[in-house]
Amino acid sequence: MAARAARAADLADLDGAVSDCFACPRLVAWREEVARVKRAAFRDQDYWGRPVPGLGPQDARIAVLGLAPAAHGGNRTGRIFTGDRSGDVLFAALHRAGLANQPTSVSADDGLTLRDTRIFAAVRCAPPDNKPTPGERDTCAPWLHREVELIRPTLRVVVALGAFAWAAWWPVLRQVYGQRPPTPRPVFGHGAHWSGESVPALLGCYHVSQQNTFTGRLTPAMLDDVFTRAKDLAGVD
Ligand code: SF4
Repeated sequence: MAARAARAADLADLDGAVSDCFACPRLVAWREEVARVKRAAFRDQDYWGRPVPGLGPQDARIAVLGLAPAAHGGNRTGRIFTGDRSGDVLFAALHRAGLANQPTSVSADDGLTLRDTRIFAAVRCAPPDNKPTPGERDTCAPWLHREVELIRPTLRVVVALGAFAWAAWWPVLRQVYGQRPPTPRPVFGHGAHWSGESVPALLGCYHVSQQNTFTGRLTPAMLDDVFTRAKDLAGVD
């Protein structure tokens, strides 16, 4: 699997290859089980039930790094952050920031396009309870590393959604940029900012999960601040 990821010539090749990955037995079983049983509201739909590739142009200057697809969101629609409440919040914010052409993301064929931004997850398959194991994170890392490598020429800022994504970034420094991660590791927090020499800046943002947005821990204004800062750092108008 790592060799297949490393061979991906471009994002289209990578997206196709990752969609056909079966490396994690527990996650393969879960994504297929969810796709078979379904949620009642989506009973008439065909679930994707596969790994979910990234979304956005190859010349992205900003990356949004998430945790993993949602069982009835990305795992259903086949597009990251698409078809669930987390995506509603995220894409509304990206649209306000001028980074998405529309504020909603409901299905893979809804016409959504991103500008200067690529979204992907540290783990590409929906995990039970939204909790991948460390072993699954490490197994999936080559897909993340190759994706960053492919957009490296333009990538300037990474917005890490939550502590899991924040932690998943440090191995990228070593694998893609040949740099030793800082020690001790900078602590994740909303608004946290880390910069290194000749590598993308890293911004921390609370995850757009319902747990955070319904409770007011993460508000639209807080997301707007993060994306305004990301655009400034990335030199995006
Ligand atoms: S989580 Fe990643 S490595 Fe594991 S099966 Fe899914 S795509 Fe493959």
